[in-house]
Amino acid sequence: MSPQVLDNALGAVGHTPLIRLDKIAKENGLKCNLLGKVEFTSAGGSVKDRIAKAMVEAAEKEGKLIPGKSVVIEPTSGNTGIGLAMACAIKGYSVIITLPNKMSLEKEALLRALGAEVIRTPTEAAWDAPESHIGVAQRLQREIPNAIILDQYRNVNNPLAHEFTTGPEIVEAVTSTPSTTARPSSQKVDVIVAGAGTGGTVTGLSRAIKGKHNPDCVVVGVDPKGSILALPQELNVDGNGSQYVVEGIGYDFIPDVLSQEDVDVWLKSSDDESFLAVKRIMRAEGLLVGGSSGSALAGALRFLKSDQGREIAQTPGKNVVVLLADGIRNYMSKPWFLDIAMGSEASPLADTISKILAKP
Ligand code: PMP
Repeated sequence: MSPQVLDNALGAVGHTPLIRLDKIAKENGLKCNLLGKVEFTSAGGSVKDRIAKAMVEAAEKEGKLIPGKSVVIEPTSGNTGIGLAMACAIKGYSVIITLPNKMSLEKEALLRALGAEVIRTPTEAAWDAPESHIGVAQRLQREIPNAIILDQYRNVNNPLAHEFTTGPEIVEAVTSTPSTTARPSSQKVDVIVAGAGTGGTVTGLSRAIKGKHNPDCVVVGVDPKGSILALPQELNVDGNGSQYVVEGIGYDFIPDVLSQEDVDVWLKSSDDESFLAVKRIMRAEGLLVGGSSGSALAGALRFLKSDQGREIAQTPGKNVVVLLADGIRNYMSKPWFLDIAMGSEASPLADTISKILAKP
């Protein structure tokens, strides 16, 4: 499509690039194509802009939102909130976001900058406790006139946004890129890997890709250790059940919008492997992705080294797509990011620089 003038920032939601991760593929001995769907280029900076836009537009069509009057309340790990606050700033609805304490300062600051009220809630509160981010949102909705919770955990427009936009964009990019001798391609999506929070992304991607494009595609869901979204259940006993640091993936309940059966393989991720993968994506590929993108990449690499994934990994032209859900600018104040950026690793140039600068 040729460039056009967009009506507002919502026109810049989605339409994200699919980018080869050639160096990471090579250093892991992969012969398949490893491709990253880079969602931080969306207007609000994450894959969740898509569902925010879809949920607001659907509610408007149903007459549930009144500009200047409606108050949109949403419990979120931040990115859905940013997408909603952006949509509501444009359309003239007030916004209240309930956000667990563990989520980054950057997300809170962005939400406030977009005009939203932010209420922090205890991270350790069970999802159905009155003090959790979900509980507080419900309490506020009951008392605030014209308040509405669009409810990403139950709203069908969450998985639908990915079935209708994220998935088709991936399929279009893969099918319209020709196969050449230098760059062979099956022109199919052979594996798709995504982290799961609400599960809307992985569910919608599965329906778009397995359901309408390639029934043999392997859908890999990544769930952090300490969360309970993975199947079979036994997988969820690993780790110590303690809180994990990665934001946006994992829950202590199964959201309605997650269809666990639409996922072929579930893998559990650790914080350490996620942050190490973020570092590799930045250093090797120059892509400024967030923590859950590292979880997805670590999961993809583990799958491709497993008995089930090895053949795909070693077949030139197979396309393995990893969903990179948000960007590092959401996490720049987090200790794990500062470790990556300012860590004590010796730079090969440090010696040379200090010798030059020490000269009189
Ligand atoms: N990564 C990040 C950074 C997120 O904010 C989210 C949304 N919670 C996800 C992954 C998972 O997306 P979904 O809710 O669609 O499962």
